[in-house]
Amino acid sequence: MNLQELRALPHLSASSISTYVDCSLMFKFAYVDRIQPEFTADALVFGTVIHRVLEIYHHMRMVGEKISLLELTSHFEEKWREAVEKNPGIRYREGYTFDNYLISGKSLLATYYTEQPETGFKLLALEKPFSYQLTGLPVPIIGAIDMVEEDESGTIIITDHKTSSKAYSADEVDGNFQLTLYGIAAKANGYSDREIILKLDCLVKTQKPKFTQYYTVRSEMDEQRAIRKILAVWEGISKGVFIPNDNSWRCKGCTYREHCQEWFSKGGD
Ligand code: SF4
Repeated sequence: MNLQELRALPHLSASSISTYVDCSLMFKFAYVDRIQPEFTADALVFGTVIHRVLEIYHHMRMVGEKISLLELTSHFEEKWREAVEKNPGIRYREGYTFDNYLISGKSLLATYYTEQPETGFKLLALEKPFSYQLTGLPVPIIGAIDMVEEDESGTIIITDHKTSSKAYSADEVDGNFQLTLYGIAAKANGYSDREIILKLDCLVKTQKPKFTQYYTVRSEMDEQRAIRKILAVWEGISKGVFIPNDNSWRCKGCTYREHCQEWFSKGGD
């Protein structure tokens, strides 16, 4: 099954679990009530376009061709224009515009193009969909891994591409829940007999763009903790426990602020 087919069935994902943990009322609006967001966040559209262009870059690498920097930035310009046209409800944060995202995207991709080290890893898959069952969880965990590579010793390297406004700390990388789920997914989807290394390839939107790669691993205990957390999230969902976390980092850019206000003013439901 491809990711679209997997998404059509009941499931949990790294994103939905993290949403529940950060603010379970937001989870309810998005995943239970399936309310359309009040606007489209600019950073989400921008990040998705960068992600898509990196996929094109690595797809060309997979078929043995190297894309030029000009081709790469032209792809970005085309896809950014298309994405904004398709999202008339896009809302730019203060200080951000279509044009400065255009400049920023090209500059980030140029940084990626010139600073990405030659690892010699063999590229096995891009946007690899996965689905796995956990004991005690009646729905599968689904998602897609950005990039799966293999080094000369047979170790599997799982990469997630990120666009971020700041660099990550070592603790953030080592505790990154999405990477933990991807590691479990890799084991459940054919790589259980391999060493697995996890990696964040991060483009940082500072004034002078930066590209940083963060390598990390997960122990069995890390995976067990993640699974325990997922089961607790499921218990909360199935019992209808949806609590607003109105001091969350998510509140500032929340795409359900009006629904949230209404929920508070009505005394909740
Ligand atoms: S505004 Fe804050 S508390 Fe309300 S739903 Fe959004 S994230 Fe949750």
